Order: sequence, then structure tokens, then C-alpha cells
Amino acid sequence: MRKVRVLIIGSGPAGLTAAIYTARAQLSTVVITGTQLGGQIATTHDVDNFPGFPEGITGPELAERIRAQAERFGAEFDYDIVTAMDFTKGSPFYVKTQNEEYMADAVIVTIGANPRKLHIPGEDQFIGRGVSWCATCDGFFFRGKDIIVVGGGDSALQEAIFLTKFANSVTVVHRRNELRASVALQTRAFQNDRIKFIYDTVVDEIKGADGRVTNVTLRNVQTGATEDKLIDGVFIFAGYDPNSGIFGTQLKTDDLGYLIVDDFMRTSVEGVFAGGEIHDNYFRQAITASGQGASAALATVNWLGERERDLQDLSTEAQVATSGD
Ligand code: NAP
Repeated sequence: MRKVRVLIIGSGPAGLTAAIYTARAQLSTVVITGTQLGGQIATTHDVDNFPGFPEGITGPELAERIRAQAERFGAEFDYDIVTAMDFTKGSPFYVKTQNEEYMADAVIVTIGANPRKLHIPGEDQFIGRGVSWCATCDGFFFRGKDIIVVGGGDSALQEAIFLTKFANSVTVVHRRNELRASVALQTRAFQNDRIKFIYDTVVDEIKGADGRVTNVTLRNVQTGATEDKLIDGVFIFAGYDPNSGIFGTQLKTDDLGYLIVDDFMRTSVEGVFAGGEIHDNYFRQAITASGQGASAALATVNWLGERERDLQDLSTEAQVATSGD
């Protein structure tokens, strides 16, 4: 059983940034990385909007740089996944990975969310080569191109509108004949000449040539009719799934499964903090996740400091009481 002051679960920008702060505050810190260092940015080809990199940086390199920075202050990295935990008894918290067991005075949950995949042929093959889940990251590369956006929710329409800054045309492909997005976003999208809509339709396959997407097979779910559509890119906004399932009922979530945290990044369990997309269903940027990770870490450092002072006060009171006997 390994004892640490701070255990960080997840190694996206939120977790890695949190590690810089807790390690720099001289608290022994271990980051359990999950399957891939960097979380979602591990699969982001180019990060163009993280401050400090005027030429842009690849997602994996950004993750590696933040990791190295945290390591410089003494953070350690356990390339493993969490398999069990017990937050019910309060601090110290028990957390188990495949190869190690931890007792941690505080836990920071930065386990993120995953954009939903369509699970269709070609989707994985063309990731970063025409298939994307991030308009802010990749829209720039579709200047003058024709693209489709899959989904009918707020993200799909918000990102479709954003993508018209670059693309020649954006076709929203939605599986029903009614959009889920807010009326305000629908109105803006309908007013945009570059956005077209195809309803009652799903993408059955993404095809390509020379390592780039060239076309998609669309299927009308009412008639069953299929058609091939020439296209340069496919942006998928079919919702996100926060990775909170692993905590069961130990941490409170909203109806969508996002952790509920207060202004000080405190979850429903005292001593367990959270940052990044595990609680943020709105901004979803590497830089905002980093900021939330820093906030969660600072809140953790403060909480541990206060707790230590309280414990010292109790011990002093006990000594005074004993000496008075
Ligand atoms: P969402 O509301 O869950 O919408 C996901 C969309 O993808 C739905 O239209 C859904 O179709 C479709 N979809 C799901 N699985 C699919 C599949 N396998 N194949 C094809 N289509 C599929 O997700 P979101 O748009 O990311 O929004 C998430 C939350 O963030 C929402 O609460 C939203 O209001 C909020 N948000 C707000 C803003 C804003 O206010 N500006 C911006 C972004 C997000 P169905 O409609 O048929 O289910």
C-alpha cells in the first residue's frame, strides 16, 4: 500500500496542470495516467490555441511538456488505470489500480469525458485525416473545404456555425427530423447561408483515398435509401460521455453524469476535488481544463493545510488537557 498526499486520477491538461501545482507545493503527488497520457489531447493532431505556442503544438507534445514540468517539481506518474476506490470513509482515501494500492490524503479527479463515437467503418481510420471531434482544434484545416457535421444538439449547431468561418459548406446530418439544439442556435444556423441540413439521416461509412476522407455513405432512416456524398471532412458532435461511471454513487453527478463541484472545485466528498471535463460540460478546451486543474489543485493545497492546522490544534488541546490532569 502506497501512501501519498495527493492522488490525481487522469492525465489530461487538467490532471497534469494540477500535478504541477500540488507537487510544487511540496505535497507528494502521483498521477494515475489512464490508458493514454494527455487524455483527449493525445488524439488531437494540432493544438493551435494553447497560449505560449505561437506556432501551435501537437496534442501529445503538449501533454508531454506539461508532464515534464510537473515531474520537475517531483510529481510521479503511474501508467495505469483505476479499478476501484473507496471514498465513503473520508480521508485518507483508498484507490486501487491494476498494479498498485494507494492511500491518499486528497484526491483530484480529472478523468475527463469522451466525445461519443459513431462506431462506423472508417471513423477510426481517418481520425486526424478528415474525422474530428473538435472544431476549435481542427476547423482551421478545412479552409475552403466541404464538410459534414453529425448531430443535432447544441454542440453540433454551435460548431457548425463556427466551422463556416473556414469551410466552403457545412452540412449538418441529423438522425431525426427535429433538431435537439436550442431555438436560438437553430435560428442562427438557419440564417447562415453556408449551412445546409439533411434530416432523418445517419452516416453508415466514412471513406477515403491517400489517407484523407473523400466521401461518406449516408442512409435515410425513413426510406432506407443510401447515397454517397463527396466530402473533405466529418465533424462528429453526437454528445459526450463523462467518465464518471467508475465512481458509481460515491460522487454526486448531474443527470448527464458530470460531477457536481462547487466554486472551489469540491465534489460531494470532502477531500475529493475535480477539474476539467469530468465536471465541465460547456467549455471543453485544453486551456480551460488546465485552469480548472490549477484551481482544483490550489483548493486541495488549501484544504490539506487547513486540515493539518486543525489536527495540530486538536493535538495541542489534547496535550494541554493531559498535562492538566
Ligand atoms: P447532446 O445534446 O447530447 O446532442 C447530441 C446530438 O447527437 C443529438 O442531436 C443526438 O441525436 C445526436 N446523436 C447522438 N448519438 C448519435 C449517433 N450515434 N448517431 C448520430 N447522431 C447521434 O450533446 P451536445 O450537443 O454536445 O450538448 C451537450 C450539453 O452541452 C447539452 O446540455 C447542451 O445544451 C450543452 N451545450 C450548450 C451549448 C450552448 O448553450 N451554446 C453549446 C454546447 C453544448 P438525437 O437528438 O436524436 O438524440
